[in-house]
Amino acid sequence: MKITILTLFPEMFTNVFGTSMIWHAQDIGAVEIELINFRDFSTSKHKKVDDASFGGGPGMLLSVEPIFRALQSIQGLETAHKILLTPQGEPYVQDTAKRLAKMDHLILICGHYEGFDERVRTLVDQEISIGDYVLTGGEIGAMAIVDSVSRLLPGVLTSDESFEQDSFYNGLLEYPQYTRPRSFMGMDVPEVLISGNHQEVEKWRREQALKRTQERRPDLLKNADKKD
Ligand code: SAM
Repeated sequence: MKITILTLFPEMFTNVFGTSMIWHAQDIGAVEIELINFRDFSTSKHKKVDDASFGGGPGMLLSVEPIFRALQSIQGLETAHKILLTPQGEPYVQDTAKRLAKMDHLILICGHYEGFDERVRTLVDQEISIGDYVLTGGEIGAMAIVDSVSRLLPGVLTSDESFEQDSFYNGLLEYPQYTRPRSFMGMDVPEVLISGNHQEVEKWRREQALKRTQERRPDLLKNADKKD
């Protein structure tokens, strides 16, 4: 998969993309990440990419032209899935990550400042919000998307790290887990987990996942087991 990110702050991605699973995903060739600074596509003398809002109001808006020109420079633009990061987009959930992981080329556009010219919306296939709060820019959202999508790509996680048990994958929160020591300050690891009985362990985990989801996210339960 290829992921192209349009941003005014490519340096923000350096550490995150050079570390842990995202680095590994690139290292094994599962994902290729391209960063494009759309300021390079400004035709103004001082590489301006923003302007005041018609009608007045605080802050500056990203202009449509540099983003349009940056997009035009991308090979395979027509077939790529183009996403705009915006708090007004559809909420990003694990099912979105699963769908995006099946695509060949994603383009993520990071807004900044007060937002962007409304006509930027016409350049994309999908608008995504990573939560009901406002960030300074789309970069952190783009990182969240790249991370959550990359770990779903074939070969990125080992079977030991399989994502199928993760929270949300099958519509449930994950069951509680323990490692050594068996006892810590009076809190013991449940007997069933050290019983060696795999069937009982699976049954216990399923029950715990349901219980935890019921307690913390009952909204998820109505969709449990209906997903691919
Ligand atoms: N004024 C805009 C509004 O109320 O919708 C928010 C602008 S925000 C300060 C600047 C940029 O950060 C946005 O254009 C978007 O690209 C990104 N952004 C902020 N919050 C986001 C969120 N929850 N999800 C995705 N992107 C977000």
